[in-house]
Amino acid sequence: MTENEILEIFRQHSAVLEGHFILSSGLHSNRYIQCALVLQHPRVAEQLCSELAAKLKHLGAKVVAAPALGGVIVSHEVARALGVRALFTERQEGAMTLRRGFSLEPGEPTLVVEDVVTTGSSTRETMTAVEQAGGCIVGVGSLIDRSGGKVDLGVPRAALVTLEVKNYDPADCPLCQSGIPAVKPGSRAKK
Ligand SMILES: [Zn+2]
Repeated sequence: MTENEILEIFRQHSAVLEGHFILSSGLHSNRYIQCALVLQHPRVAEQLCSELAAKLKHLGAKVVAAPALGGVIVSHEVARALGVRALFTERQEGAMTLRRGFSLEPGEPTLVVEDVVTTGSSTRETMTAVEQAGGCIVGVGSLIDRSGGKVDLGVPRAALVTLEVKNYDPADCPLCQSGIPAVKPGSRAKK
């Protein structure tokens, strides 16, 4: 599938929102991609994640991990396509942690996936949690990359759609300055 075909799936599910949004990173933006609206359809989730899995298969991962909640379905469906385990990390007292008895073999090759990468901060935190549990990060994937490909996580990275979306520091946000109320459609509580 081409990037445009995939983006069209997001548009068909009204998952590309225009307005004034507070992202989970704390940055503001005029565009928000609500992946949950696409991923609520298991067959679409399976289709998109198998496309992502095909881009990451050569890395030889034995496990896929993602930050909860946004990454859980992506992790599960990418792992299904690769025939490997799916784990997720959760915030415990502010730190991304592997809980629920999840464990990794020493040096086990692991992919970290996300629904959307903006600054890469939650991916980075998940990578740290996996490494602390003994895993070895072989690559990173997301359905959407909002950074225009700029985020560098030091490992191979793939995304189905790469967008260059303007993000603003709240102190310097033209949408705030024009008095448009900001809404927070994401899942993570503001830090
Ligand atoms: Zn703003």
